[in-house]
Amino acid sequence: MVLTISDKLNAALENKSIVFYGASMFNSFHPPVRTLMGPGPSDVNPRILEALSRPTVGHLDPAFIDMMDEVKALLQYVFQTKNELTLPVSAPGSAGMETVFTNLLERGDKAIICQNGVFGGRMKENVERCGAEAVMVQDDWGTAVDLNKVEDALKANPDAKLLAFVHAETSTGVRSDAKALCALARQYDCLAVVDAVTSLAGIELKVDEWGIDAIYSGTQKCLSCVPGLSPVSFSERAAQVIRERKTPVQSWFLDLNLVMGYWGGSAKRAYHHTAPVNSLYALHESLVIVQEEGLEQSWQRHASNHRALVAGIESLGLSFVVDAACRLPQLNLVKFPDTIDDAVVRSALLSDYSLEIGSGLGAFAGKVWRIGLMGFASSQTNVYLCLSALGNVLRQQGLDVDPAAAVLAAKQTY
Ligand SMILES: *Cc1c(COP(=O)(O)O)cnc(C)c1O
Repeated sequence: MVLTISDKLNAALENKSIVFYGASMFNSFHPPVRTLMGPGPSDVNPRILEALSRPTVGHLDPAFIDMMDEVKALLQYVFQTKNELTLPVSAPGSAGMETVFTNLLERGDKAIICQNGVFGGRMKENVERCGAEAVMVQDDWGTAVDLNKVEDALKANPDAKLLAFVHAETSTGVRSDAKALCALARQYDCLAVVDAVTSLAGIELKVDEWGIDAIYSGTQKCLSCVPGLSPVSFSERAAQVIRERKTPVQSWFLDLNLVMGYWGGSAKRAYHHTAPVNSLYALHESLVIVQEEGLEQSWQRHASNHRALVAGIESLGLSFVVDAACRLPQLNLVKFPDTIDDAVVRSALLSDYSLEIGSGLGAFAGKVWRIGLMGFASSQTNVYLCLSALGNVLRQQGLDVDPAAAVLAAKQTY
């Protein structure tokens, strides 16, 4: 007999035997093998999964501590920074965001927040929960942060402590001009705070050269590592702000003054929380992979697979939402005709091709797909798979498209 999840939960609640009609109710979980081309998590390189399964050691084991030093050096490389305060927060990208705001802001501070999609809105939530004021600079979904509006806000708010923006807006597929925004922040004596969750390793990003003061990222996007860690980095200027706080950081767990007792450079490392040991092996492996390929080469690979996807998508008669000038290569917003049912197409891709693509958010819900080409998933093979699978499903839905021609159009760009 086949037991449903609710049969199992009811039996467990009633404290019944977990052996039911001779069969164990709970078996090992074996996930389906998918190709992940959505907004994250992205496909994890098998080398990283293998690293994850290596034996767990103590989080103060000398061998582990050597590896932590390498993780730091490798993070400095991918962020292109010499910042001493560079480490992975033991929680996903959202915790990196919270680490930055809770450490830099105190009650009564003012922050200028740029919003052109979902994640700027989350920054506002963070700022307000710190008891600080968020001055919002709003831009339409699907467009980049407007430098003129930001400069106006900086002029109107000379008391602002920081300027924060999302480098790669995953909800809209837009790249904002991080270099110019950081220069503006510097000009008006504000700390420059950057969300690089989707940008790190996918597009050009230079923490020191651009004058970024605080930055957070995530492991499950272009690093193609398992979800659950958030690399962060702080300039000396930002580190000083944190050291000189008048009030303690309201989050004990995210307080960098405490975390640095464990992650800091000193020889003596003290227990703060138990590091996610195996996840850090995975992060180490993912960073080694980026370094083997080379950061610039990784940016170029993302760009060239994006060009191929564009050619194929346009050959299918579909179009891109975002202007070519500010499109993200790693996250593609593709518009489809009204006659197409979003959910039917995505579920056919999942069931027939084991291929996951993302749906639209907010104003774009039901109108666009978000096709990710992130990290390990940014490959020629995946571009072809996506174009032929999507082309076939669209044909079944009655669109007059030629999947083979789309693959050929993509192939010709390489
Ligand atoms: C995914 C994402 C986050 C949040 O990361 P999680 O790992 O899901 O917590 C934050 N900002 C941007 C731009 C993202 O794409």
